[in-house]
Amino acid sequence: MNSSPHPTPSGSVRTTGQQLRRRSWAEPWKIKMVEPIKVTTPQQREAALSAAGYNTFLLRSEDVYIDLLTDSGTSAMSDWQWAGLMLGDEAYAGSKNYYHLEEAVRRHYGYKHLIPTHQGRGAEHILSQIMIRPGDTVPGNMYFTTTRYHQEHAGAQFVDVIIDEAHDPASPHAFKGDVDLAKLERVLKSAKRVPYVCLAATVNMAGGQPVSMRNARAVKELCARHGVPVMMDATRAVENAWFIKCREPGYSEKSCAQILLEFCSYTDGCTMSGKKDALVNIGGWLSLNDDALADKARNLVVVYEGLHTYGGMAGRDMEAMARGIEESVQDDHMRARVGQVEYLGGLLQASGVPVVVPIGGHAVYLDARRFYPGMPQDNFPAQTLAAELYLDGGVRAMERGVVSAGRDKATGRHHYPKLELVRLTIPRRVYTQAHMDVVAESVVAVYENPSKPKGLRMVYEPEYLRFFQARFELL
Ligand SMILES: *Cc1c(COP(=O)(O)O)cnc(C)c1O
Repeated sequence: MNSSPHPTPSGSVRTTGQQLRRRSWAEPWKIKMVEPIKVTTPQQREAALSAAGYNTFLLRSEDVYIDLLTDSGTSAMSDWQWAGLMLGDEAYAGSKNYYHLEEAVRRHYGYKHLIPTHQGRGAEHILSQIMIRPGDTVPGNMYFTTTRYHQEHAGAQFVDVIIDEAHDPASPHAFKGDVDLAKLERVLKSAKRVPYVCLAATVNMAGGQPVSMRNARAVKELCARHGVPVMMDATRAVENAWFIKCREPGYSEKSCAQILLEFCSYTDGCTMSGKKDALVNIGGWLSLNDDALADKARNLVVVYEGLHTYGGMAGRDMEAMARGIEESVQDDHMRARVGQVEYLGGLLQASGVPVVVPIGGHAVYLDARRFYPGMPQDNFPAQTLAAELYLDGGVRAMERGVVSAGRDKATGRHHYPKLELVRLTIPRRVYTQAHMDVVAESVVAVYENPSKPKGLRMVYEPEYLRFFQARFELL
């Protein structure tokens, strides 16, 4: 294994002695089954994209060559996980797979209570309903779409307390997910009531940027002084642990699993989308340490998700997730997972493509503003870039800019986020290095193409989480 966290691209001709001495690492798995994917013509892609209203969410997966829309539920499961599916105990109550899952979550995340949910937003819904009262304020290190929706739906106002560097795509800060403690303290002192602080590990909207252990500890101390619990969005907490291992002094000799446990110990519970770190196609959970709060959550889960021992999941799915958790905390797995993202990021950086730095844990984020200098945010630069990428090579990416940010509830105006990004999200254990090479070449072709589009006009806008279903026309 290469000791450097930044894998060097291979495939280049190695001529010097020094390059020959380089030792590569490769994925700690081999492929047992394949799924064919289709190469399309430019004409086919034009027709498909126009039918999809220039929204990559509305494309048919069949028409996509390399699908980097999301890492959510798109992981390849291992043979051990597939074997686990056959061991599903589909009893309505008390399935043994529930207890396996509870054991895995306790062992690796350390929380006392497990409430399974159909996916992450199910857990966010329940947490928001049991903790938030109208008029509350929920501080968080940058928002996530569904998380903020559920907080606001329950009557809270979300306040961003992430460090300023997170909003600067060019800042090389090693822990851009960190909470700004001064900002947080101001909110804790001035808000009428703060039911909890929402701490997201590897902040998705900031570019997959991690939170340092030091910061998590300090957030916990500050919140404890104010009697406010810390609830983690643990969706990518294992990737966060890997970054701590690579970047934070004192952690290089610790395992990902040890780091994860310590990180979770600074929080009082978590919401979790099992579709990311936990290597399954569907599932999630809510964890809590407080007994009374867990009772409330179990009361609600039966209304919205299912009985408290399945929460919307089949027994077999809980088994696959329990096994996925075990695999996800292995250092070898994380090295290859994050290493592949860094490989793609490295190729783009070497070609001068503007990307968010440092390269994130689950995705490479393209800075759409720098692809189209002068394009107003009202013309949706990131949405435009995602469309162009699909047209060029059949690569599907996702907008994370003004469309995703939605509208201000009070004024009805667009939120204008500083970051106007396109996310190339890498599914876990799915694509090879050759796929990453193809993606990089396509991005470079779009970046260097001298004929720049004017942007898009939104012609249909759904009321909630509009980025999923909005439709556009070319300007
Ligand atoms: C995906 C995601 C969620 C929501 O989880 P779902 O399983 O998609 O409902 C919440 N937070 C973050 C950071 C996510 O990436």
